[in-house]
Amino acid sequence: MSFTELANARLETIGFRSTAPRRAVLRAIESASAPFTVEELLESLPGVGRATVFRTVKLLHELDLLCRVPLEDGSIRYQLSEGEHHHHLVCRRCGQFTEFTDLELDARIQEQARAHGFTLEGHAVELYGVCRSCAAGGL
Ligand SMILES: [Zn+2]
Ligand SMILES: [Zn+2]
Ligand SMILES: [Zn+2]
Repeated sequence: MSFTELANARLETIGFRSTAPRRAVLRAIESASAPFTVEELLESLPGVGRATVFRTVKLLHELDLLCRVPLEDGSIRYQLSEGEHHHHLVCRRCGQFTEFTDLELDARIQEQARAHGFTLEGHAVELYGVCRSCAAGGL
């Protein structure tokens, strides 16, 4: 199943009808070759309303279908998620995110929240640096 079909199906299960503009947003996301900002996505979809693009991106992130990574320049970039909850290694040079999971880290984060009487609703862990291929000098 393509990302567009999968995302459409997931959105319908939570009550969002499949509309032509929404499918256009999904196809644009599926064909993005690099992590993108919502502004870049908007520019590539001149016929689609701003609210539809913003809402679709937010829903896809909530469904764990899209990764959302804040960069050090203040922008937020998105890329297709490979699956369930995970964390990111973010390369400062090429901008690619690599996913990793660490259940022990997740358990420690939950313990910290509990110890502070804090009701945890989510967390994000981003590691910033230089990826293996950039460190090796190539791209
Ligand atoms: Zn991710
Ligand atoms: Zn890199
Ligand atoms: Zn986690």
